[in-house]
Amino acid sequence: MAHTTKFMDGTVFRLGEAGYDDEIAGFQTAYTHRPAVVIAARHAEDVRSAVEYAARQELPIAVQATGHGLSIPADGGGILISTRRMTDIHIDPRTRTARVGAGVRAGALIEAAAEHGLAPLTGSSPSVGVVGYHLGGGIGLLAREFGYAADHVRRIELVTAEGRMRTLTPEDELFGAVLGSGGNFGVVTALELDLAPVDTVYGGQLVFDTPLVEPALAAWREWTATLPDELTSTVAMLTFPDIPQVPEPMRGRFVASIRVAFNGSHEEGERLVEPLRAVGPRLRDDLRTMPYAESDTIHSDPPHPHAYAATNALLSELTPETLSALLSVAGPGGPVQAVLDIRHLGGALAAASPTGAVVEHRDAAYVVRAIVMTEGTASPDGLVAIRTALEPWTIGHSLNFLYGAGAAAGASQTRGGYTPATYGRLADLKRKYDPRNLFRFNRNILPA
Ligand SMILES: Cc1cc2nc3c(=O)[nH]c(=O)nc-3n(C[C@H](O)[C@H](O)[C@H](O)COP(=O)(O)OP(=O)(O)OC[C@H]3O[C@@H](n4cnc5c(N)ncnc54)[C@H](O)[C@@H]3O)c2cc1C
Repeated sequence: MAHTTKFMDGTVFRLGEAGYDDEIAGFQTAYTHRPAVVIAARHAEDVRSAVEYAARQELPIAVQATGHGLSIPADGGGILISTRRMTDIHIDPRTRTARVGAGVRAGALIEAAAEHGLAPLTGSSPSVGVVGYHLGGGIGLLAREFGYAADHVRRIELVTAEGRMRTLTPEDELFGAVLGSGGNFGVVTALELDLAPVDTVYGGQLVFDTPLVEPALAAWREWTATLPDELTSTVAMLTFPDIPQVPEPMRGRFVASIRVAFNGSHEEGERLVEPLRAVGPRLRDDLRTMPYAESDTIHSDPPHPHAYAATNALLSELTPETLSALLSVAGPGGPVQAVLDIRHLGGALAAASPTGAVVEHRDAAYVVRAIVMTEGTASPDGLVAIRTALEPWTIGHSLNFLYGAGAAAGASQTRGGYTPATYGRLADLKRKYDPRNLFRFNRNILPA
């Protein structure tokens, strides 16, 4: 029997106690939070009491739902509020909204919404936490049609640094500041979100082998200039590991994998992808009309926890020179081994946020993400090299696509998520709402 302490309805795990290691574990395995105390919350009131307790003791506070976006780890001094048990989902098909607890994962929300012929604006992986994803902006599978997920939040239930429970609506000055700034202003206990009237999607992957990688990239780049907003796509470049779990034709190969998600008819989808199929034979071509509930197969993100770090660059444009610069650093034979992906932005992502979300650089046309396998919190040098190569086209960084704690994915890039004016406004709000910076284990905004 675990030696644990009850805390309201939640449970307290202290460093060294049974259950502690399971509670701190998350998707990121390179490092973890390792605070003196973990409070495993079940209800909003557990979160409120935990924050009140930490504020009284001046203990900094970390929050974790799944660990996908772990940045600065809490160590000996702080507390961790673990929200993974807060998994309530309530769908209102009449208003096409969902209210989700802080621990809900994308896959659970997709399933619940699908029963009503609706879909949340989720991203590539069903195991990502819905709240963390929205707090970083949220670039979904259908992002060019619907815009950032953070633009579709209706209500935020938040516990602020003084241990007060607040319900925020778009009129509140904190509302937009919370959407895009991670957990800098408090612990979100629930969000109310719009759902889209989407039950099926046309999409999947086209995978091109090494000799066709460059022609496929060139074709994709030109193709993206011609598309309706209902089609969002990504191209990934990676060397598949040479292991039995990888299907034979792709094992050990450097490939380009184009991922397509289209909210439209099958016939129109087939017509739209013709220029991509014209590039040549594919190692994999599984484009089809599928229930949105199967949309995780479009990217087929790795489902298992692992060690990784990533940086990204929001680009003003993607020219042939941009692609050459990227591949000369991280292509086959280049000095850096990384999984690269380029997402096509624009469409509704370029519109001003109706919720005032602080997700900026909306004029970016593409975002490049580079992921490397790593151990520990230090940022691998390779990420710096990739960032440097892309500098001429970079207008900022996406906070959701920074993974890891080191310099190449850390503080200077947090600032790069915002214009200087917005960063200044957020720093002022931080001074007002969290002057002691209790919420600092995130992409931290320092109080002005
Ligand atoms: C495999 C994978 C695929 C991804 N795909 C996409 C994608 O398609 N589109 C996209 O936009 N992003 C994507 N992301 C990024 C992801 O949205 C962010 O990493 C996000 O922060 C993950 O949230 P989480 O709750 O799952 O992770 P956690 O590590 O549990 O949380 C991340 C951070 O969010 C904050 N946070 C979480 N919950 C709360 C809360 N209740 N209150 C206050 N702060 C909180 C904290 O600062 C926390 O450190 C992906 C990440 C991975 C690893």
